[in-house]
Amino acid sequence: MAPRKCLNDPNSFCYICGRFTFVKNRIKLEDNVKSFYRNYFNISISNQDKSWAPHVACKSCVESLRRWNNAKSKMPVTWRKKIVDSRSISHFEG
Ligand SMILES: [Zn+2]
Repeated sequence: MAPRKCLNDPNSFCYICGRFTFVKNRIKLEDNVKSFYRNYFNISISNQDKSWAPHVACKSCVESLRRWNNAKSKMPVTWRKKIVDSRSISHFEG
């Protein structure tokens, strides 16, 4: 009996959206992509030691996560500014 094996290479599919991905649109799951993924989904990329797991993501998913992470990293600057403003108002009122 032949061993069970998937006929399709798992790296033909995006780890994030699961869609078939052409070679030119594949991006390896390197540390920056793993970091974006963890920040967005609040879980880590797993099963990277398994042969059946995709080790790539499509450009579209990586770009979306990168943009979300960049937008998120800019938010604390806005919050800090608001806190400083409210303190100066309370200082004036006090
Ligand atoms: Zn994708």
